[in-house]
Amino acid sequence: MVKVTAAAADLVRRTGDGLVVLIYHRVGATSSSAVDLPLGLFVEQMEELAATGSVVSLDDALTTLESGRGPDRPQLVITFDDGTGDFAELAVPVLERLGLPATLYLATEPIESGRPFCPGASSLSWGALADATSSGLVSVGSHTHGHVLLDRADAGTVADELDRSIGLIEDRLGLRPRHFAYPKALLGSPAAQAIIRARFASAAIAGTRANRYADADPYRLYRSPIQTSDGMRWFRRKVGGGMATEDDLRRLANRRRYAGTAT
Ligand SMILES: [Zn+2]
Repeated sequence: MVKVTAAAADLVRRTGDGLVVLIYHRVGATSSSAVDLPLGLFVEQMEELAATGSVVSLDDALTTLESGRGPDRPQLVITFDDGTGDFAELAVPVLERLGLPATLYLATEPIESGRPFCPGASSLSWGALADATSSGLVSVGSHTHGHVLLDRADAGTVADELDRSIGLIEDRLGLRPRHFAYPKALLGSPAAQAIIRARFASAAIAGTRANRYADADPYRLYRSPIQTSDGMRWFRRKVGGGMATEDDLRRLANRRRYAGTAT
C-alpha cells in the first residue's frame, strides 16, 4: 500500500503541466499482439491510476484544456480503440469496480456485421456495449465505420465513413458521439480535418506526450499507447507524459508499414 501511495504521489506531480491521454487496445492476452495486455497488468495499472484520483472523463478534460489554464489537480484520460469483445468482458468490470471513466473509440463496421475487429479477437456486440455505457462511466466516440485511413481517403469517403459511424452509434446506443480518433493515429488530409471539425468536439492522434495546457489543440489530441512490454515501469513514464521518442520511431516504421493500404 505504501508503494502504491508513493507511486501515486509521483504520478500526481508529473502530470501537472499537461493532460495525458492513454490508449488501450485489448485486454486478456489471447493473442500475440503487442497491445493485448494480460488482465493482471491492466488491473495493476488501473488500480494505480485510481489511487492517484486523477482520472477524469474526456469531456471534463477537454473543458479544462480549452480553458487554457491547468487544473487545480492533474487530470488523466483513459481511452480504448477499435471495439473488441474483451472491452466489455474484461476491461469494463475493472473500470466499474474502481469508478474510472473511459472513452471507447468505436469502428462501427465490425460491431454492426458481428465479425471480430481483427483475427483472434472476440466480437463486441451492441448489447454488451449498451450495458457498458449504462453506468455512465463509459462514453463512445467514433473511429470511422470501416477503420479507414483518412490521410488517403477522398472527401466523399471521409464524410460517408463519419456519418455512418455517427448514425449507427446514435441508433444502436441512443447517444451522440462527440469525439473522434484517427485510425492508426494517422492525421487526415486538410479536407478530412475540416469534415471532422464540423462533426466532433475533438480528434485524437498518437504522439506519446502530454497535451500542454498552454497550447494544446483538441483536434490534434496527443495520446500515449500502452503496450504489454511497458509493464509498470514504462507505463508510469507514459502516465507522466514521457516516452515521446517511442512515438517518433513508431511513425517512421508505420510510414513504410501502411504504404498502399486503406484500412
Ligand atoms: Zn484503431
